[in-house]
Amino acid sequence: MRNMISVLSRLRVPAADAIRIRRSVIAAILAFSLLATAAPTSVGPADPKLYLNDIKTLAAPNMEGRGAGTRGLAKASKYLEHRYKSLGLKPAGTNGYLQPFTVTTGAKLKSDNSFVEQVGGKKQALVLNQDFVPASFSSSGSFTGSVVFVGYGASADEFQYDDYGGVDVKDKIVLMLRYEPEIFGEKSGHQGLTQHSQLITKAINARNHGAKAVIFINGKLADGEEDLLMRFGSVSGPTDAGIMLLQVKNAVAADWFQAAGKSLPEVQQQINHLGKPASFSFPATLQLSLRVDIEATHARVNNVLAYLPGKTSEYIIVGAHYDHLGRGDSNSLAPSQIGQIHPGADDNASGTAGVLELARLFAPLKGQFDRGILFASFSGEELGLLGSAEWVKEPTLPIDKCVAMLNMDMIGRIKDGKVYIGGVGTGTTFKSILEQAQKHSGADFKIEYSAGGYSASDHTSFVAAKIPVLFFFSGLHSDYHKPSDTWDKINAPSAARLLDMISDVALQLVSAPTPPKFVTVVEDKPMGGISGGGGYGPYFGSIPDFGEVKDGVRFSDVRPGSPAAKAGLRAGDILVQFGDKPIHNLYDFTDALRRSKVGEVVAVRVMRDGKPVMASVRLEQRK
Ligand SMILES: [Zn+2]
Repeated sequence: MRNMISVLSRLRVPAADAIRIRRSVIAAILAFSLLATAAPTSVGPADPKLYLNDIKTLAAPNMEGRGAGTRGLAKASKYLEHRYKSLGLKPAGTNGYLQPFTVTTGAKLKSDNSFVEQVGGKKQALVLNQDFVPASFSSSGSFTGSVVFVGYGASADEFQYDDYGGVDVKDKIVLMLRYEPEIFGEKSGHQGLTQHSQLITKAINARNHGAKAVIFINGKLADGEEDLLMRFGSVSGPTDAGIMLLQVKNAVAADWFQAAGKSLPEVQQQINHLGKPASFSFPATLQLSLRVDIEATHARVNNVLAYLPGKTSEYIIVGAHYDHLGRGDSNSLAPSQIGQIHPGADDNASGTAGVLELARLFAPLKGQFDRGILFASFSGEELGLLGSAEWVKEPTLPIDKCVAMLNMDMIGRIKDGKVYIGGVGTGTTFKSILEQAQKHSGADFKIEYSAGGYSASDHTSFVAAKIPVLFFFSGLHSDYHKPSDTWDKINAPSAARLLDMISDVALQLVSAPTPPKFVTVVEDKPMGGISGGGGYGPYFGSIPDFGEVKDGVRFSDVRPGSPAAKAGLRAGDILVQFGDKPIHNLYDFTDALRRSKVGEVVAVRVMRDGKPVMASVRLEQRK
């Protein structure tokens, strides 16, 4: 087979002398007689027009931004199913082309939310969405008790600042300001707000101090700024933070301060002026009765899967996620435009259309390659790589026959020929395949390679299953996760040239005598503006599974050579305790890690096969 390829390719070069021509003619005749059994050595070029048409369709208003639980997403899955079917590809889901699964999409307020204040014997009920609103990640439940003011609710060892110093909040309601003391900006070098400003950090900190509920207020407003309650569901957090969390208007809290003989603006000013906490307990004459009633919302979504069989049972996966943010959720980077459709033309109609275009090019070559191709359109990516994780957990083809996974996520905004390719170190043959592909396709991209296969898209689910992956990406841009990620900004000609290169990679992978072997990449660098996880405190080395676990954080993998690996932790372990802090979810883990120091030895508890296992992890410096 390999000789045949070199013979055929030599025929394309004009030969200089007659003898070589005669040899070539003989070779051509030989080749022709064998063509019936030879695999094709190239596929047609990608068509930028067809490609852009698919993006337009997927990013159209009737697809509603392809948010989980929207009719638009269901419409998108129908469209993909129809396209795969009309190409004559085999259904490869659990229900025809579809593989349905359930995701948590958010939360909704139910009927029983109330807030009653009792100030010096005077009882008053506040009005939902006018005076108060619960956070979408608040626990449901009810509590009546007294109140402690805890400044900004921050415990920041690194700044020698603790709003909880000298006050007892056990079984109390804590009242706090949004954001953080001004001194944090000075001490952290004015690089924007620190993690202490985040609501979820404040909630976890309050819970770890034994409080029963958190009430927060906007506090001092900028000139002309209105004292608005946050929109329910607009701030991201876990499904349940493990503590009640509500916002009230400044004016409500200002009355409590007044009844206690204090002034809210003065106290806030004092904290910022002196750089010191000013926490205090309100007199017991202030009692609050809180009731929060929230329900998680779920949706049934589908991966769409189509198969092009090869001569053997081995295959590769060519995939991309097709879901996006709908009308914007807590992942929107334009919070003021939540409610508007986030069309996600680049993220990731561009990759989805890429899969369709490759399916169109390969479909006529059914049965001609040694290996098959599974074309996969994943859902639930924006919620945490859920569709790809579902497929790896419940593979619809034998997963041990999958020799490589190619993922396209945001390939539509190639600028100045710059392309990022990740995972190059995860397969033994990838580097040379990519070099060949670039040559064959004539693409003159400036490619930035990265060896590791872990980054924020679906290929990560496959690395954890020890499948070699390649990740194609054209870089972040200012329209990312905003309503302005529209189809007219797509660079279709460049994307089509990248698809030519990817189709050549696929072609080599389905034809090569031996498939790439998986290689574990120990070190990695961040790529194309995707954070390698910096800012999360010291290095621990686990790869969390974003799928839902009842309690704790499940590791889909543990990086080899990392502190976690050295401590004997492994894939499948569920972290439930980190030092003195219980871990209920990923937010708890991130918070605990940020509060730790490099070199610290932390006693952790994981659940392994249902039994607790203890381990000591020495935290290291992130590289
Ligand atoms: Zn995205």
